[in-house]
Amino acid sequence: MAKASKPGKVVEPLGKKVSEDSLSPKVPSIEIPHALSVRQLADLLQTSAVDIIKRLMRNGIMANINQVIDYEAAAVVAADFGFEAHLKPWPAERTAGVIGEIKRQQLQGAELSGLKPRPPVVTIMGHVDHGKTRLLDAIRQTNVMATEAGSITQHIGAYQVEVNGQKITFLDTPGHEAFTAMRARGAQVTDITILVVAADDGVMPQTLEAIDHARAAGVPIVVAINKIDKPNANPELVKQQLADAGLLIEGWGGDIVCVLVSAKEKQGISELLENLLVVAEMENLKANPSRPAVGVVIEAELDKTKGPLATVLVHTGSLRLGDTVVVGSTWGRVKAMFNDMGKRLRKAEPATPVEILGLNSMPQVGDTLIVVATEREARALIQERQLEMQQQPSRLPKSVSLNNLFDQISAGQVKELNIILKTDVQGTVEPIRSSLERLGMEEVRVRIIHSGSGNITESDVMLASASKGLIISFGCGTEAGARRLADVEGVDIRYYDVIYSLVEDVDKALKGMLEPSYVEVIDGRAEVRAVFSSGKTGRISGVYVIEGKVGRGASVRVWRQEQVVGQSVVSSLRRFKDDAKEVTVGYECGVGIKDFDDFQVGDILEFFRTEKAG
Ligand code: GDP
Repeated sequence: MAKASKPGKVVEPLGKKVSEDSLSPKVPSIEIPHALSVRQLADLLQTSAVDIIKRLMRNGIMANINQVIDYEAAAVVAADFGFEAHLKPWPAERTAGVIGEIKRQQLQGAELSGLKPRPPVVTIMGHVDHGKTRLLDAIRQTNVMATEAGSITQHIGAYQVEVNGQKITFLDTPGHEAFTAMRARGAQVTDITILVVAADDGVMPQTLEAIDHARAAGVPIVVAINKIDKPNANPELVKQQLADAGLLIEGWGGDIVCVLVSAKEKQGISELLENLLVVAEMENLKANPSRPAVGVVIEAELDKTKGPLATVLVHTGSLRLGDTVVVGSTWGRVKAMFNDMGKRLRKAEPATPVEILGLNSMPQVGDTLIVVATEREARALIQERQLEMQQQPSRLPKSVSLNNLFDQISAGQVKELNIILKTDVQGTVEPIRSSLERLGMEEVRVRIIHSGSGNITESDVMLASASKGLIISFGCGTEAGARRLADVEGVDIRYYDVIYSLVEDVDKALKGMLEPSYVEVIDGRAEVRAVFSSGKTGRISGVYVIEGKVGRGASVRVWRQEQVVGQSVVSSLRRFKDDAKEVTVGYECGVGIKDFDDFQVGDILEFFRTEKAG
C-alpha cells in the first residue's frame, strides 16, 4: 500500500530531492515547503491521499484531502514513509502575496493554531439494572440547555446539557458493549465514562467488565453510586468493593471521583455534572472550531420521507449547512441539521451531536465524516476508498494471533500483547495471569486487559478487536454469536485445558518458536447418487456436487447420517468416462477414494484441505 516506501523516485511538483551524499545513504531526504495540502504531500511521497489522511489521524490531526497542513505535521508523515524531511526555503521569486495566501490557508487549516476548549463527550457504563438509562434521563431532564427550555427532546443518540455555562455531551447508548464496538470501528469518541454502581447491589460482573473496557481504552472513570434513596443502600460497601477491584476512589487511597446519586429522586445530579467538568478540565480537551468538520456517525436510520438520517458527533472543526461531506463510503450535502431538541442549526461546533439530512445513502455507525470542497472531490475520495477496500484482502486478521505475533513484534507493530483471559472457574484466573505476565520481554509486554470466568461473549471479542488483542480460553466455551463475531473481526481464540501448555504456547509465540497451527477449509460437498463397480479400482461413487467443487487429490471425508465412515483422498475423478481435474457445483461425476469403496447412496462426501492459520 505504501508505495512511497520505495525510495529513490521522488517527483517534484513542490519538493525537491536533496543531494544524498551529505546524509545517510539509507534514508532518502525530501524537501517540504512551509505549508502544503494533503493531496500535494501525497503526490510528493507518491502515495494515496487516504494513506496520508490515515497517518495524520494517527498523529491526532484530522485533515481532508484539500486541507493545508504545516511543515511539522508533514515531516512526521514523511518520516513514516521512510523520508527525512527538510524545510524548503521560500523561493526568492515568490511574492509576498503568495506567501500571504499560504499563510491564510495555514491559519484556516493548521490544526494546532486554532485550538479551543471543547465540551467533554461522556458515556455511561455499569451492570444491568443499576440505573444507567434512568440516570441519563435524569441528567437530561434536570439540565436542559437554558436556551432550549420548552423544546421537545428528540432521540438522536446523544444530547448536550449545560452546567454553569459549560456544555457536556452525553452519548445515550449506555453500556460498555456499545462503547467498545465503536472503538473496534476505530471511532473512540468518549472522553470520560460514568461508572454506575447500584448502592443496594454493589460491584457485579458487568461492573468489572466496564472497568476493564474503560481502562483498555484509557478513558478516565467517574463513579456514580446510584439508588442511594433505597433503604438497603450501602455506599461504603460499594467503595470497599471498588477498591478490591483495583479502582481506588477519593478517600480510599486514590483520586477517582465518586459521587452519590439517586436517579429516581434526582439527587446528586448537579454534583456529578460539576465533577465531570473538573475531570474534563484536567483532560485539557481541545479542538479547532474554525476548520472544516471531521466527525463520526453515532446513529443512522432510513426515514421513509426524509431519506438517510445520520447523527454525527462533530469531532473537530465546524459542520455547516450546505457543506459537501464524505461519510464512510457515501457522500452528500448537508441539506438540514438538527440538534437533540429538534432545533435547526446552521453550524455545529466540536463535540456537538447533530442529525443531518442530505446523504445519498445510509452510512454505518462508526463511519468518519469529512468535509470536502466539491462534489467532484467527494466522488474521487469515495472511488479511492473503494479501490483501497478492493485491494485489501477482507479476511486479513485485524488483531494479533499467536501465529503472527512474532512477525508483528519483529515489524515493530506490537509492543504489548493484550490478552483477554476467560476461565471455567474464577480460581484459575490469578495463577494463569501471573504466569503470563511474567513472560513479558523487553520488546513486548504481556497485559491481561480483562479476565473473568464463564464463556467467551461478544463483548470479549469486541474488546479483543478494539485492543488488537487475543482471547485465551481455559476450559470454557464460546457463545455462538461470539464465535461468528470473532471470524468477522479476525480475532484469535485459543483453547487450553492445561495451564502448562497455555503458558508454553504464549512463551513460544513471543519468541517466534510456535509451530504454526492449521485450519481446515471445506472446498465442496457432493451427494452419492449411485455406486458402480470399477474392475481393478474397486467401487466408485456416482455423485452430484451440491456445494463448491471437487478436485483430484483433495482430502475427503465420507459422512453417513451424521457420522464419518471414512477419510482419505480422492484417487479418481471422472466426468463421462474422461478424467477430470475439477468438477464444480451442479455437475455429476464419478469419484473414487483411496482405500475406501464402501459407498452407499445418500452418503455425503466432504472435500477439504488444511492451511496454515493466519
Ligand atoms: P440500566 O439497565 O442500568 O439502564 O437500568 P435502568 O435505568 O433501566 O434502571 C433499572 C431499574 O432501577 C428501574 O426500575 C429504575 O426505575 C430503577 N432505578 C434506577 N435508578 C434508581 C434510583 O436512583 N433509585 C431507585 N430506587 N431505583 C432506581
